[in-house]
Amino acid sequence: SDEEKTITATLFPGDGIGPEIAVSVKQIFEAVKAPIEWDEHYVGTKVDPRTGSFLTWESMESVRRNGIGLKGPMTTPIGKGFKSLNLTLRKELGLYANVRPCLSIPGYKTRYDNVDLVTIRENTEGEYSGLEHQVVRGVVESIKIITRQASLRVARYAFHYAQLHGRKRVSAIHKANIMKKTDGLFLECCREVAAEYPDIVYEEVIIDNCCMMLVKNPALFDVLVMPNLYGDIVSDLCAGLIGGLGLTPSGNIGDNGLALMEAVHGTAPDIAGKNMANPTALLLSSVMMLHHLKLSDHADRIHNAVLTTISEGKYLTSDLGGKSTTSDYTKALIDHL
Ligand code: NAD
Repeated sequence: SDEEKTITATLFPGDGIGPEIAVSVKQIFEAVKAPIEWDEHYVGTKVDPRTGSFLTWESMESVRRNGIGLKGPMTTPIGKGFKSLNLTLRKELGLYANVRPCLSIPGYKTRYDNVDLVTIRENTEGEYSGLEHQVVRGVVESIKIITRQASLRVARYAFHYAQLHGRKRVSAIHKANIMKKTDGLFLECCREVAAEYPDIVYEEVIIDNCCMMLVKNPALFDVLVMPNLYGDIVSDLCAGLIGGLGLTPSGNIGDNGLALMEAVHGTAPDIAGKNMANPTALLLSSVMMLHHLKLSDHADRIHNAVLTTISEGKYLTSDLGGKSTTSDYTKALIDHL
């Protein structure tokens, strides 16, 4: 509508190819007249004592205030005395779920043509609670924590997502036959939430069987929800099904609807500054962001332009076997909006 309100969103262009692909996103948002104003933040050059990392307190505040953000890849600094960037973001912003839609792109040939699934990973506990110690020499213990609160929260998000995106089925992925208590509790929570969504089919699939089914026929799945470790592995498996890094978007969901979307790939130092990067993953992450803001018309226009441009195959970046630069590809996309 004419009175569409402008929404301020935090943008972390990141480094390496980040700033180049962020330019693409900004140009395309301008072309579709998306009602978004960017609040840009860069990773600092020294540790901010208030966050304990290279991310500044002000940039965290920006995401908290805006409730929505888009993040390019960031170089993981190596050394001691500070927290990792991703850990800082997850802890500071309470990002409890990681969402990865995996959709085959017609025209870009991979092993499967019909992948259309979404993995939703619990992102705060499970085996990644960081509780490991030695009991006696030669014996170590790692504690897997599953709580009712975190399991219900991620299950609720999975069903909410399924409903919002018109998806038909949610599969809870587990190993409750062995991890009777922990994965058992996770399943109990999923079942409880499933009961509130009678229109969505709910099923439970054991992780090993799930992996076999995914590589044999990914079309068997729709939305998958799972504890942290399984989600880490299965989400990468799924990215591989659609051709990998340059194409896979993701979203991190926090409390009160806060969301920070990001490309799955890294800073690609080998091609940084050469106008060669494929902006698709960040662009599809921005499409997730628009959907999250219920700006679905803008989201669909951009998404369709991506699909058309890639399936046409005239302007492809080199990772997809083409010869186009980032800016040629972006221009072609804008022509297809
Ligand atoms: P990478 O994803 O940066 O690169 C792997 C390969 O994929 C490279 O050959 C690269 O050229 C290619 N590639 C990646 N994205 C591409 C794109 N959009 N278009 C075309 N080609 C693309 O992984 P890496 O080399 O292991 O990591 C480099 C840096 O990125 C490291 O500092 C790492 O810590 C960081 N990293 C950050 C994130 C993040 O911020 N979320 C994620 C992964 C890696």
